[in-house]
Amino acid sequence: MINTDVIIVGSGIAGFTLAHLLLKSGIKFIVLDRIQKRRPIALAETVPPAALPLLESLDLLKIFERTAHKKTYGYHALWGSNELQTNHFYRHNPYKYGLKINKSAIIDHFRKELEKYIIPNTRFNLSRSTDKKIIVESFLHNSTHRIEGKIIVDATGRNRAVLKKIGVTTIDLDSLNSFTCHIPRIKHKNLVHDVITEAFEHGWGIISGLNSELQVMTIFTNPTSIIHPQLSNFTNWKKILQHTHYLKYFLPSKPQSKVKGGLANSSRSETTAKDFWIAIGDAAMAYDPLSSHGITNAIYTTKTASQAIVDSLQQKANAFEIYNTVNDTIVHEYFKNKNQMYRSEKRWKTSQFWKSYHSDLESAKNLIFG
Ligand SMILES: Cc1cc2nc3c(=O)[nH]c(=O)nc-3n(C[C@H](O)[C@H](O)[C@H](O)COP(=O)(O)OP(=O)(O)OC[C@H]3O[C@@H](n4cnc5c(N)ncnc54)[C@H](O)[C@@H]3O)c2cc1C
Repeated sequence: MINTDVIIVGSGIAGFTLAHLLLKSGIKFIVLDRIQKRRPIALAETVPPAALPLLESLDLLKIFERTAHKKTYGYHALWGSNELQTNHFYRHNPYKYGLKINKSAIIDHFRKELEKYIIPNTRFNLSRSTDKKIIVESFLHNSTHRIEGKIIVDATGRNRAVLKKIGVTTIDLDSLNSFTCHIPRIKHKNLVHDVITEAFEHGWGIISGLNSELQVMTIFTNPTSIIHPQLSNFTNWKKILQHTHYLKYFLPSKPQSKVKGGLANSSRSETTAKDFWIAIGDAAMAYDPLSSHGITNAIYTTKTASQAIVDSLQQKANAFEIYNTVNDTIVHEYFKNKNQMYRSEKRWKTSQFWKSYHSDLESAKNLIFG
């Protein structure tokens, strides 16, 4: 039996950042690191300039910069009109650039730093002892670890594996899905930055530079849209994107990877911490990739959660309530901004995607604020 204070389930940016912060605070913890057969497809997530001071305040900026695919200096968008809009980061202070992070490289870095505290696993069971301790059984092939702790952290992203076991409800704010693949890197003469977002009748797409040879292309739509069943097959993309201004230009005859589908919707857990558990990163609140806010959210929730955990272990009153209140305020503000962004696109009033999206937003608003 391993005795610890905090059991972190999930080894993404949120889980490992929390482990890094708890190590600095001298709190005992264990990370359950799920072994996956394949590495997830690289998304080259953008961390915007406004998030870099947060990384610096946690002494993480050097790691993120050193491992990053590249710096990024702005982006283009065709959203709400046919006119190309350009946003340059050189107007931002104190950092005039953002980062295209290399998530796998950051995670590899943390795996080395935190080696002694990691338990690789493929699945886990969760129960509570009569004296209210958390008991986790972690399984890997034929070996089992039994871990006893005081607080369990859900850092399993949109899976919310811990919350599901406890019975905490997820609130889906919409039903956006993503379809991603890698394509060869080419330049367009009108574009100075290597990120472009474009809305079209049945959804929207983004092209984002990964390295000197590849870029990442993602198409977003809803499960009810007519293009949804066709998007897993790259050969359909040419027809789907034929009326776009820029996205179609980048389409190669053959992609450099398989198309990988997944969830990209905004969602949150009904509450983000209670009694003996706390959720961080996407498990607490998952953002629409349009916001470029997922990584910042993972780091920020981790920062506030680490304080809540320290306070809770010291028996300070309201530690988790404060965490919940901060998150409620953030999600309220995020939702308002996202709502405005989607509503600013009015070109395809009869499109299933844009119509259903607006009505999803309406019902979600009732769920959160009703
Ligand atoms: C297409 C797309 C583009 C995006 N672009 C951006 C962007 O430009 N900028 C940005 O900031 N964000 C972006 N995001 C969002 C960003 O990737 C996420 O918000 C961020 O990675 C969340 O980190 P996390 O650690 O909370 O979760 P995750 O990265 O999902 O990590 C969860 C971890 O938990 C593990 N896990 C899952 N289930 C279990 C289980 N049952 N047991 C144990 N472990 C488990 C997983 O293996 C994984 O290691 C994008 C997302 C998508 C889908």
